[in-house]
Amino acid sequence: MSTPRALVIGGSLSGLLTANLLRNIGWQVEIFERACGDLAGRGAGLGAQSDLFMVMRQIGIRIDRSMWTEVRSHVCVDRTGEPVCRVPVREVTTAWDRVYQSLRESFRTGQYHGGMTLLRCEQSERRVIALFENGTRIDGDLLIGADGIRSTVRRQYAPQVVPRYAGYVAWRGIVEESQIPPQWRATTLQDMVFCLPNGELAFSIPIADSDGAGHRRCMFVWFRPANFETTLRDWCTDATGVCHGDSIPPPLIRKEVVADLHLAARRLLAPQLAELVAGARQPILSAIFDLETTRMAFGRAALVGDAAFVARPHVGTSVTKAAQDAWALADELVKEGDVGAALALYERRRKPAGSELVARGRRLGEHLEPGGAGLRPPIDALLGEYGPGGIGEWPSTV
Ligand SMILES: Cc1cc2nc3c(=O)[nH]c(=O)nc-3n(C[C@H](O)[C@H](O)[C@H](O)COP(=O)(O)OP(=O)(O)OC[C@H]3O[C@@H](n4cnc5c(N)ncnc54)[C@H](O)[C@@H]3O)c2cc1C
Repeated sequence: MSTPRALVIGGSLSGLLTANLLRNIGWQVEIFERACGDLAGRGAGLGAQSDLFMVMRQIGIRIDRSMWTEVRSHVCVDRTGEPVCRVPVREVTTAWDRVYQSLRESFRTGQYHGGMTLLRCEQSERRVIALFENGTRIDGDLLIGADGIRSTVRRQYAPQVVPRYAGYVAWRGIVEESQIPPQWRATTLQDMVFCLPNGELAFSIPIADSDGAGHRRCMFVWFRPANFETTLRDWCTDATGVCHGDSIPPPLIRKEVVADLHLAARRLLAPQLAELVAGARQPILSAIFDLETTRMAFGRAALVGDAAFVARPHVGTSVTKAAQDAWALADELVKEGDVGAALALYERRRKPAGSELVARGRRLGEHLEPGGAGLRPPIDALLGEYGPGGIGEWPSTV
């Protein structure tokens, strides 16, 4: 029997996790990514759970101590910076660039095609064909849509499923240890520090370093309401007047938008968080969406990661979810020889978990929706529920 062939659309974290695992179980795998060149530098910090590290280890990646950072407590501070509530936790963060680089390195001998944009797929009983913008047609036994929130694969098979804007954005930025004022270093490099101005939520979180050299860093995240048609469009318009839609490459964010962000931080946030906003080299703007697919499997095609479900980032586990999707998919393909049957079993296994995570993200964020869809929970309850949840064993020893 010839080696089965999988076509993975999207070469970001979900695509790389799935491609590496499928190779491990004996599939010939090719990744097709729209972007040309490396994706490193795209992401920031990531909350993580033990399944992410388990899957990375299965792929053959060595999880050394520099790959993760411990979070000891969630602390809420008032506008003056004084702690008002502390909840001890046992959580772990990592960094997008560390996870991406190690997955990319593991796939270095695999076929990764940049600059390939999927237009649509065709299926017969025995094959699936991917058709690309440049006219190329590639066929395989299985096609994986790891192509993110605006998935072309999902749009073809479940066009009624669309992302829903939550009414607010996240501003994020990474700050190196040397940029953090000394009086705030101890706490920002070991705790998650929250501040809750009216209708908004900001926090800092320590994250793993980018290269394993031991440079400590932390990230700020600030959720702010933004009208989709007015404020968001304005923030996504560059200095030449071009509006990039509902997102914008970070270097194109206008100087005055960043200056306003710094001013608002001084006015609204505790000093330790305002310092982080001011100290971040390059703020990143992300509009927050919910996405919940009705199906994950369509004959010989399946969705993984953000293509299927996007939970608001309050849950801090979407990459772990992507790893769990990839793991379940590979597992069902090993257990069930028929691709269509394996994908149906995969959908049955992973769809409830995706829906549950989206619902949890909504619950944690609905108090930030303009118009007050939900009351803010008591601070200790919010701090206790926020984020990825406890890690159990530390990653180096699991
Ligand atoms: C503010 C914010 C904070 C977050 N914090 C966390 C966190 O703490 N922890 C966590 O686990 N997750 C977090 N996430 C989520 C996390 O970043 C994603 O869940 C994760 O990166 C998985 O993404 P993905 O690979 O499925 O999709 P993406 O990263 O969107 O990748 C999709 C890829 O497909 C490519 N593509 C798209 N269309 C096509 C096409 N037609 N043809 C070919 N290629 C295509 C794209 O170029 C892209 O590279 C956060 C997200 C946001 C916005």
